[in-house]
Amino acid sequence: MIDLHTHSNFSDGTDSPAELINKAHAAGLTTLALTDHDTVAGWDEATERLRPGLSLVLGSEISCQTEDGISVHMLGLLFDRENEALATMMSATRDNRIGRMHKIIARLTAAGYEISMEDVEAELSDGATLGRPHLADALISKGYMKSREEVFAEVLHNDSPFYVAHYSPTPEVAIAQIKEAGGVAVIAHAMSSLRGRVVSPQSFESYVAAGLDGIEIFHRDHTLPNRELLLTIAAEFDLVKTGSSDYHGNGKLNQLAEFQTAPEEFEKLESRADQRRVIRATAR
Ligand code: AMP
Ligand code: ZN
Ligand code: FE
Ligand code: FE
Repeated sequence: MIDLHTHSNFSDGTDSPAELINKAHAAGLTTLALTDHDTVAGWDEATERLRPGLSLVLGSEISCQTEDGISVHMLGLLFDRENEALATMMSATRDNRIGRMHKIIARLTAAGYEISMEDVEAELSDGATLGRPHLADALISKGYMKSREEVFAEVLHNDSPFYVAHYSPTPEVAIAQIKEAGGVAVIAHAMSSLRGRVVSPQSFESYVAAGLDGIEIFHRDHTLPNRELLLTIAAEFDLVKTGSSDYHGNGKLNQLAEFQTAPEEFEKLESRADQRRVIRATAR
């Protein structure tokens, strides 16, 4: 069982990397990717706590924005963390997320919500990438709402008046940077209309030209017609087809390995990285 998209508390998941490893091992996964938003901060703990029988794919889910303002998430897997341009790109996005959070808080405050940056920071683990889910958790702690789902539905969704985007690279720039760092690029939940506007099928041509390796097709936010369309695009450009959970611990309903990647697709993907970077636990 291969799951190529999960989050820990180094972004907006609720399990530590060690807990995530243990749960993946217990669930019988053979390969797990750790893909926290715009960071590699959880990589060391995941590596140290890896369990025999489980292979680890280190990665990050890179926030992107198209020229016309559509939010895109790009999974970068198996890249070299020492690549400076990629590290700088991620750290610029993390910085931008802070200013953006202040703006969202100001809008909520103007609308009468009593919420501060300190309240949000209290929900964030040390060194984690800040995101709307932490603000959701703060609103829940303050008793305004009961679940992240409810907060997103009511105030934090992408079409809400409280929504503020954060600067991030275009998908093409992110793909090129991931490739430059030796990794592989897989576009995440590309047709998830729950997240607001989505990219057009035509835009894949430009992503492929930039080096796109794969498409996350099997994901709970994709309808059957979405999957059919993405399968057609993957066939047209000979892209790797992945499936994954986008697990966030108890921050989302998504269960580990609820969607999976076929072993032959994963092999194709791994062979597109510049080195063998999958980590296997040594017996100890
Ligand atoms: P941000 O990265 O700050 O723009 O926040 C987006 C993140 O919020 C996504 O990556 C999801 O992890 C999370 N998210 C989006 N919609 C929901 C939802 N309905 N319930 C829980 N988490 C959500
Ligand atoms: Zn997330
Ligand atoms: Fe995402
Ligand atoms: Fe994700």
